[in-house]
Amino acid sequence: MRYSQYLLPTLKETPADAEVISHRLMLRAGMIRKAAAGIYSYLPFGLRSLRKMEQIIREEMDRAGAIECLMPMANPAELWKESGRWEKYGKELLRFKDRKSADFCMGPTHEEVITDIIRNTVNSYKQLPLNLYQIQTKFRDEIRPRFGLMRGREFIMKDAYSFDLEDTGADISYSKMYQAYRNIFNRCGLNFRSVEADSGAIGGNFSHEFMVLAESGEDGIVSCDSCEYAANVEKAELIYRDLKTPMAALELQKVDTPGQRTIEEVAEFLKLNPQQLVKTLIVQTSEDEVLAILLRGDRELNEIKLANLLDVDWVLMAEDDVVKQVTGAPTGFAGPIGLEIRVIADAEVKGMADFVVGGNAVDVHFTGANQDRDFAVSQFADLRQAVAGDPCPRCEGGKFESWRGIEVGHIFKLGIKYSEAMNATVLDAEGKSRPLVMGCYGIGAGRTVAAAIEQNHDENGMMLPMPLAPFQVLITMLNPKDDQVREAAEELYQQLLAANIEVLLDDRDERPGIKFKDADLIGIPLRVTVGARNLKEGNVELKIRNSGAMSMVPLDDITPQLQQLVAEGLAFKLEN
Ligand code: ATP
Ligand code: MG
Repeated sequence: MRYSQYLLPTLKETPADAEVISHRLMLRAGMIRKAAAGIYSYLPFGLRSLRKMEQIIREEMDRAGAIECLMPMANPAELWKESGRWEKYGKELLRFKDRKSADFCMGPTHEEVITDIIRNTVNSYKQLPLNLYQIQTKFRDEIRPRFGLMRGREFIMKDAYSFDLEDTGADISYSKMYQAYRNIFNRCGLNFRSVEADSGAIGGNFSHEFMVLAESGEDGIVSCDSCEYAANVEKAELIYRDLKTPMAALELQKVDTPGQRTIEEVAEFLKLNPQQLVKTLIVQTSEDEVLAILLRGDRELNEIKLANLLDVDWVLMAEDDVVKQVTGAPTGFAGPIGLEIRVIADAEVKGMADFVVGGNAVDVHFTGANQDRDFAVSQFADLRQAVAGDPCPRCEGGKFESWRGIEVGHIFKLGIKYSEAMNATVLDAEGKSRPLVMGCYGIGAGRTVAAAIEQNHDENGMMLPMPLAPFQVLITMLNPKDDQVREAAEELYQQLLAANIEVLLDDRDERPGIKFKDADLIGIPLRVTVGARNLKEGNVELKIRNSGAMSMVPLDDITPQLQQLVAEGLAFKLEN
């Protein structure tokens, strides 16, 4: 490709509304342009990276035995009504009517459509197992689209769906996808972790997320420093072995805490550590129950663990008027003593005695509070957010480390949730009708490219790894008006094309400074500079973008050297 005939609109200025580096660089390097909030066009340069991502996905899905198909973006409402998600999905589902007033939605995910296909085409266990995938545009009307391709409303996803007769088969399908995902992200050259995840609203009972480690990541993850355990903090389990409640030593005492509202303020006022306080959160559930939740003062509630424990869709902090009604005081003074609602405590609280709690009145706390003696707890459970340093639940002595991550892939074991709701059954060997056991598996293609940029850049621009880079080699022609330079660069360009190397020839009539700045910004991994001075010695200059290493290479050697560097950049080892 010749730069002079290409569309590569680089920007000098940093676009004002781009908060994360990948978004800024994708705009500046002419990869994408915004059409509306969360809706982007891929310009030619960005599309090349996207297509490479898709191709890696395709090859690994095919290798794992999945079969490609393509489903419609417009989904008829009937199917979504059958699964119950037409009502349940909420505002992320973009609904619309056709000219005959029939209801449709833009597919945010395709369990309904694929289940409909399979129930109409597969009727015997002999046709199983099956795993079908597509790479397709999804639409989710995200409440806060941001960070460019990272959280778009329209985005490209690979989604796959597996169908098995039995749970054991579904587990095999799941583990094949787990390995395929590890291969995919390894091939992209990414530093990632696969972590245990909450299976959330989509349902099911087991799931893993694939997280690219990056400071800008929206997710918190923890991993054990001595075993394999890693999990999203939403999910990370904490266990307390043999927790005993110490004997109460102090009398319960009401104390005035004028103007002290936060845990830190109260602790400092009473000359205590926040760990000697117990905080009481009043929460409301999707089933309209109001409960009190107790946590050690310095801990955070994990609302997902609580919702799972209560088997409800969600829990939220109660509104101020509800808090006032159940505690008799405004928000911020709640305590467990004298409450008439159900009190559930984080397991850690079981090991505490003589602590401070809110007094259910403005500027009042209790010191010397003790469970059983002063108030009752109906249940203890793992409810708090895991943090770095927490003990690993799976091994002796391991401790959590914590990271920020970008979720690029997600695999779920769905079970029979959709096949039961939509009556997708097959006959087993005894001729008995059974619901299909399903799994679903997603990867955000655009989000993965963005995540790769988050992980691979410097102050001058992108450094996408070879497998995702739009081109492999950039030839910078220093002075296109110099016949010798032009001829040498053209000849090298033709040689590289003939060697099947993806090459961009910067033949623009621009100053060297501009060409070098653009080269750093667009970050093509290998850069060959052809200039008059070096040519006199029969040399060209080779620069490796991510290490910055430069060397002089004789014109005759450059093509084989580039071929070797490209091959090394694409090489990866498959795990077993
Ligand atoms: P998130 O928690 O980030 O909203 P999700 O759990 O809704 O993700 P899934 O339904 O599991 O995501 O979708 C599979 C994959 O699709 C995700 O792992 C992610 O890579 C990608 N993805 C999801 N939502 C978006 C989005 N709004 N923009 C870009 N990619 C997305
Ligand atoms: Mg989402």
